[in-house]
Amino acid sequence: MSASFEANLDWARARDAADPLRAFRDEFLIPPHEGHDGPPSDSRPLDSQPLDSVYFCGNSLGLQPRAVRDAVNAELDYWGELGVEGHFKGRLPWMDYHEFVRDDLAAIVGAQPSEVVAMNTLGVNLHLMMVSFYRPTKERPAILIEAGAFPTDRYAVESQIRFHGFDPASALIELQPDEPNGTTSPAAIERALAEHGSRVALVMLPGVQYRTGQAFDLKAITALGHKHGCMVGFDLAHAVGNLPLQLHDSGADFAIWCSYKYLNSGPGAVGGAFVHERHAKAALPRFAGWWGHDKTTRFQMGPEFVPTAGADGWQLSNPPILALVPLRVSLEIFRRAGMTALRAKSLQLTGYLEWLVQTQLADVLQVVTPTDPQHRGAQLSIRVIEGRDRGRALFGYLMEHGIIGDWREPDVIRISPAPLYNRFADCLAFAEAVREWSRG
Ligand SMILES: *Cc1c(COP(=O)(O)O)cnc(C)c1O
Repeated sequence: MSASFEANLDWARARDAADPLRAFRDEFLIPPHEGHDGPPSDSRPLDSQPLDSVYFCGNSLGLQPRAVRDAVNAELDYWGELGVEGHFKGRLPWMDYHEFVRDDLAAIVGAQPSEVVAMNTLGVNLHLMMVSFYRPTKERPAILIEAGAFPTDRYAVESQIRFHGFDPASALIELQPDEPNGTTSPAAIERALAEHGSRVALVMLPGVQYRTGQAFDLKAITALGHKHGCMVGFDLAHAVGNLPLQLHDSGADFAIWCSYKYLNSGPGAVGGAFVHERHAKAALPRFAGWWGHDKTTRFQMGPEFVPTAGADGWQLSNPPILALVPLRVSLEIFRRAGMTALRAKSLQLTGYLEWLVQTQLADVLQVVTPTDPQHRGAQLSIRVIEGRDRGRALFGYLMEHGIIGDWREPDVIRISPAPLYNRFADCLAFAEAVREWSRG
């Protein structure tokens, strides 16, 4: 694959012109870059206005689909025109609104529709899932997470351990990375479970680790966790909409995610949860609310909670319709593009970025994300070789020149080409800006 890459604008433009997904970029609002004075004019991305930024931050906040504004306005109109009747009337009655995203959500994570629900936000869903799936005992009190987990995940598991009266000092087990770049081998997971497995109630790992960009094998980890008698859940914040997932086949007990990253559903978007079918009707302990009550009898308003079978049964409240609109619009874009085609482009695009760094910028940057494309998604975490101060300076230079990535202490820039709206020419613009900076 790499033999066919070239570090020049004609090549990048030709690749962009031949990209079967190229039209999707026009469905997004690309943030303008005020006072854009670089990269040099001959390397400016294909067809872009001088004021378009080169946006590589879809792993943090995905871009706004143009169709969102009208779709939100339509619901505002229904509210104005129908009042409470909007629950039952309009094109998409609010009563059933979360069901209108269900099939597309299930397709994206590789689940059956009854196994997924759009609700709350990631952190809330993680707690709700742990209420059901983290049932510690004296013999088996522990949770296994990766060292350097995202703060929410760490705080959530730690507070759950305390809530159940156990001590995180012994009941929070952190999987230590064992590879030079700070990534973790399958053997390290096996060793951790061989050592601690009999004490572990819950294995809770990421689909894609946010800092390193490493992708984990959900099916293998689930099989391993189950072999040791543990529940297994995944945080898919950086995996959903990025990698094709097969959650049902992975056998995972549960998963949670947010929708504002690769799923482009807006700041603070409604998140999601997966509960495997085998738990659909299980009498698991849970925190209940009226929207989780069996839909057919919900409005009898009886005192006894009867959960809807499947993931829907974990809902608490009637959903925020205005916040679900961008998710619905965005999932419709994913349906048309297809995860298979998106992943095929993503492999090429991220492969090109990696090739540029390795062949043009090896004196400045070093990729810490795994080189095997099967062990990563769109994101490359790129270490600035000269350390933190020079790294901050480079990051500042890129931002000033309208190349938007994000910074992770102490010395890493995360760059995530998103196949729905990024181009080969964007990757080239990044490389040329870094080159300019290193010469200056
Ligand atoms: C983005 C992200 C979160 C954010 O959680 P919210 O509840 O949506 O604020 C949590 N965990 C991981 C791993 C993330 O990447």
